[in-house]
Amino acid sequence: MSVIETAKDIYDLVKKGATIELQERLMKLREEALALQEENLSFRTKLSELEAKLQLRDSLTFDGALYWTQNADKTKEGPFCQKCRDGKGLLVRLQNGRDRTSTDWVCIECHTTYGRSYPQSLSDDNDLFQ
Ligand SMILES: [Zn+2]
Repeated sequence: MSVIETAKDIYDLVKKGATIELQERLMKLREEALALQEENLSFRTKLSELEAKLQLRDSLTFDGALYWTQNADKTKEGPFCQKCRDGKGLLVRLQNGRDRTSTDWVCIECHTTYGRSYPQSLSDDNDLFQ
């Protein structure tokens, strides 16, 4: 039973013989409990968001030019755009730029291109996290 339900039950029980002042106090208690419940939900949501950000930050590695993440099985994923990550906090997966430009990687968000010295296959170099 939640605090709000308990307060409502108490309110209903004392309603018959209680004074107006007591009924008002119980209503106030119920409103305050509801506000606390909403605040608690807000904190839980914020905590989940922060945990997800922390998990992402812990899995993020910068190789000097690009960002990579590490999966639970220790394989790396990416690369992700350095400009978007550092500037806007976004994790934007880079696209193969060889078909469209003379560079290896291109960001579809900010159109930054990255040079030819990066592996196109994730299996090319998996020792960034070791
Ligand atoms: Zn970008």
